[in-house]
Amino acid sequence: MAHVTRRLVAVTAALAISVTGGAVATPAFADPRETVKAATATGYGGAVSTVDPEASAAAIEVLRKGGNAADAAVAAAATLGVTEPYSAGIGGGGYFVFYDAETGDVSTIDGRETAPDAMPKDAFIDKATGQPYRFTPELVTSGVSVGVPGTPATWERALDRWGSMRLGDALKPAIKVATRGFVVDKTFRQQTLDNKLRFAAFTSTSSLFLPGGDAPAVGSVFKNHDLAETYRLLARKGTDGFYYGPLAAEIAATVQAPPKTARTKLPVPAGHLTTADLAAYSALDQEPTKVDYRGLEVYGMAPSSSGGTTTGEALNILDTFDLSGMSTAGALHHYLEASALAFADRGKYVGDPAFVDVPAAALTDPLFGKERACRIEPLEAAKKPVAPGDVAAYDGVCPASVAAPADEKDTENISTTNLTVADRWGNVVNYTLTIEQTGGSGIVVPGRGFLLNNELTDFSTVYNEADPNRIEPGKRPRSSMAPTIILKDGEPFLALGSPGGSTIITTVLQTILNRVDLGMGIADAVAAPRASQRNTASVTAEPAFIDAYGQQLKGYGHTLTPSGDAFTSAAEIGAATAIEFLPDGRMIAAAEPERRGGGSAMVLRPSP
Ligand code: GLU
Repeated sequence: MAHVTRRLVAVTAALAISVTGGAVATPAFADPRETVKAATATGYGGAVSTVDPEASAAAIEVLRKGGNAADAAVAAAATLGVTEPYSAGIGGGGYFVFYDAETGDVSTIDGRETAPDAMPKDAFIDKATGQPYRFTPELVTSGVSVGVPGTPATWERALDRWGSMRLGDALKPAIKVATRGFVVDKTFRQQTLDNKLRFAAFTSTSSLFLPGGDAPAVGSVFKNHDLAETYRLLARKGTDGFYYGPLAAEIAATVQAPPKTARTKLPVPAGHLTTADLAAYSALDQEPTKVDYRGLEVYGMAPSSSGGTTTGEALNILDTFDLSGMSTAGALHHYLEASALAFADRGKYVGDPAFVDVPAAALTDPLFGKERACRIEPLEAAKKPVAPGDVAAYDGVCPASVAAPADEKDTENISTTNLTVADRWGNVVNYTLTIEQTGGSGIVVPGRGFLLNNELTDFSTVYNEADPNRIEPGKRPRSSMAPTIILKDGEPFLALGSPGGSTIITTVLQTILNRVDLGMGIADAVAAPRASQRNTASVTAEPAFIDAYGQQLKGYGHTLTPSGDAFTSAAEIGAATAIEFLPDGRMIAAAEPERRGGGSAMVLRPSP
């Protein structure tokens, strides 16, 4: 693949129609815009991988001007808020993992959304029927599923802790892209069309994202002046401009009385979020999870995300097997089984540690992993769901059989976004951020240019005292986001992450397996077809995975079902980004070659 640093593309008048917040304007102009994507880039001096060339270019611009990885990550994330507004933005939350080259420490920020203080435990029960709301149509498009956004606070905290730039400077590239517009590609148009019914339900959303009643055309230029103005507000006032004052009041009012169009038939239950909830929000400094895998130190995101404990537990299980000495199908069988076991424990034990006692140390203890590994038969898939282990009593010795719990339902979709950045000093960021569903709650804050999340749908719908992920006021719903940084001999080896709901965990796990055990280079490890076993009767798998391994895995007793999304026909699992660090100082930035229309990898100084 060609190694690309910065690509400037002049959009011609013939190609582009300028779209601004609903008005179709003319004509286009020859501003440079980043549209060309390379899935792999190798070189020195800094690297970035995101799903979008405008966002990757923003990070490279910051790195080139002397900014560090934290600065560049915020610049890229803010730009994704413009060009990937259905996956991420200031209306959502996420998890930021940072490797500090000076101290050698890996640290994290938990920027997860929180439940409003007034959220009742039966918030997801329909008062009219006494029955739980369905995910579609009630919960996904609602005020009741909007959590207090954590993304602005995460950016500010990351810059305070590790950045060299002020928030206003880190937002500049994004303000530029929002103002001059970006070129609409097939993915953006398709995601808009997939959300058309939801977006049309709100006056604010339809006027921004359905100009003239249709999704913006491929090749047109989409501008978001409202978002540029909101970013300017953050640049002037810091995040106080978001969590206090008029914008905070507007966010609360929008959640409590979503701006529905007269014609919509969507129910749109109202939410409980108040200005006091916004004022009370903080992004949290968190210790990462850490496990050793084949001599590598794997750092992940601790609860409130289940990402670090679940990938960590699965890696501890897999560490007890010689995967590289097995056939590929044999190694994949072990991967699927380890993942199911780790998901059983995720379901039983993981929630927001501010509210429930999460046994994170036990879940990532190699001895616990060793005991859980006893459950894997070398040639035969276990009946799913498998039972959780006992974190209170384990000794690494294989126990007698225990009964399995009820089947766990788990979501998968293709929302969320991940970005990976490294700088010339050796600092590394992996940051996963989201507004939950593609298109979030579907609700744009009127006149502000961004969508609100529907992250609270990650809580269990029905309240149950024994469930660590039950609804509680002020609580963070359990996430699956798994931003990961891996060190080898104390130096960065690999940083990676992915979107994809609960498949995030398996995508990160499988990519590590591909790279570390199956001998793939990082670009191939990211591109390879995926399968996801989340302790359900059937393994969800991309069609190419089923073509390649379906028959053999059937021989082990696995049932494979093609992946798909409730909202789209996409059969993709995840959209990963990664950077690998070579011993000679080069960095390989890797993005998806195909999924989500392909991602964008760039380096500061390309080299062979
Ligand atoms: N809400 C999901 C989580 O935190 C992320 C959204 C997605 O990728 O589907 O795990």
